[in-house]
Amino acid sequence: MKCKKCGGSLEKFSVDVEDSGLPSEGFECKKCGELFFDEKKSKAVVEDLKRTKLLKELPVLSIRQKIIKLSKNRLGFYFNKDLARCAKLKAGEPIEVRLLDKKTIMVEVK
Ligand SMILES: [Zn+2]
Repeated sequence: MKCKKCGGSLEKFSVDVEDSGLPSEGFECKKCGELFFDEKKSKAVVEDLKRTKLLKELPVLSIRQKIIKLSKNRLGFYFNKDLARCAKLKAGEPIEVRLLDKKTIMVEVK
């Protein structure tokens, strides 16, 4: 199997997802680093998380934002002030960013 983006060779990877007994699996391009998630397995993980009620218990505050371009091809986003106030976020606090699948990124304040 080859990378759909650059044609490089793909290597299988498996990531343990906390609170889910199922791993998220996919392929990583050794050349460009693009990740291709196994859609079936990712959906199974999300369904498993829903079953454990983790996603159901997420707060209703939802804000639509844009990804910001930072230096050195890095991307970022900011916490809206209302969201920061509700979650009692403070600058410098550690967070853990978890990639559940291509469309779901979970940010946990540690
Ligand atoms: Zn590639």
